[in-house]
Amino acid sequence: MTAPAHARTSADLIRAEEPVLAHNYHPLPVVVARAEGAWVEDVEGRRYLDMLAGYSALNFGHRHPALIQAAHDQLDRLTLTSRAFHNDRLAEFAERLAALTGLDMVLPMNTGAEAVESGIKVARKWAYDVKGVPDGQATIVVAADNFHGRTTTIVSFSTDESARTGFGPFTPGFKIVPYNDLAALEEAVDETTAAVLIEPIQGEAGVIIPDAGYLAGVRELTRRKGCLFIADEIQSGLGRTGRTLAVEHESVVPDVLLLGKALGGGIVPVSAVVARREVMSVLGPGEHGSTFGGNPLAAAVGTAVVELLETGEFQRRADELGVVLREGLEALRGHGVTGFRARGLWAGVDVDPALGTGREISERLMREGILVKDTHGSTIRLAPPLTVTADELRSALGTLEKVLGQAG
Ligand SMILES: *Cc1c(COP(=O)(O)O)cnc(C)c1O
Repeated sequence: MTAPAHARTSADLIRAEEPVLAHNYHPLPVVVARAEGAWVEDVEGRRYLDMLAGYSALNFGHRHPALIQAAHDQLDRLTLTSRAFHNDRLAEFAERLAALTGLDMVLPMNTGAEAVESGIKVARKWAYDVKGVPDGQATIVVAADNFHGRTTTIVSFSTDESARTGFGPFTPGFKIVPYNDLAALEEAVDETTAAVLIEPIQGEAGVIIPDAGYLAGVRELTRRKGCLFIADEIQSGLGRTGRTLAVEHESVVPDVLLLGKALGGGIVPVSAVVARREVMSVLGPGEHGSTFGGNPLAAAVGTAVVELLETGEFQRRADELGVVLREGLEALRGHGVTGFRARGLWAGVDVDPALGTGREISERLMREGILVKDTHGSTIRLAPPLTVTADELRSALGTLEKVLGQAG
């Protein structure tokens, strides 16, 4: 009865998911079958420019040759050891990732949410062992409208009701302050504070860029008050904003850095907590772990990702293409675009609600061969692979103009 997957149409495959796949996503009705660089192709052979790039997990495009080569080579040698033994790929990965980020020690994990969870655990342990917070009393200050992942602890400090409702009871020990508000942070941080955990740019919230001086202010405040600064760069990091890290725009080095998404090169899930030695040193054997964290395949791909970033080429591309993106969006202001926020090759674009919801605009763009994702309401997010060309980007912006002109 069930036709082989390769013989089924997009419509068949979408229908086939409904009874067997959890409904926790509402994907655009496109079924991707293959991809290369900035382009994906659906089951029927229609081509689309990927302007989402796996929420920045595909910063280097689909199937970047150097990353695919690294993965193939490693698949032929060794894929998994567990951390019960050493493997011959992990030291280099940690050395080069630490050097790239200006920090000292790496805790390898798999998904972004795991990196966040691990960062929280490291910060709490640091608060008890080093800062001297009484046991069980450590707090972590976070920002409203944050997105740090989907685990029960992480949704405990989300302010998005759809992420929380029905999933309690929640993990205590978190204080929520408005984003981009140093006075509120000053008020919230006290002697029980282990860390301030923020995204240097809030991606899911709509690419919200804080005022100049905010990140430097968080750095100064956390240092002065004696707590850690944890920067969640899982989406903003690794080239997206025109720098290796978004905190570099304010010359800030956090105590703890959370990386994920692009660290796996779009091939395998790879995440990491990267921290100063005094902080990461709070972990001893048996106190934290992961069966797959630091596996040789992940380390090989992660090392190849770091190698791409060491050249500076992708950061430079994001910077240069970011100018094209901002100019294009500026020209659309008043022509369906009511506002936008952009840094590097990353933009949150507010579309006139009269022209449709973000979802409707995304569907119209899809029919024109451009894949994007809406965030909230009438905001769409543009984050193509950093390998996209200026012409492809201009063409996509032209399509957006056309779609906004038709809409309503
Ligand atoms: C995607 C994301 C996460 C969670 O990563 P997963 O790999 O989906 O668990 C955490 N923080 C930020 C800022 C993210 O964008």
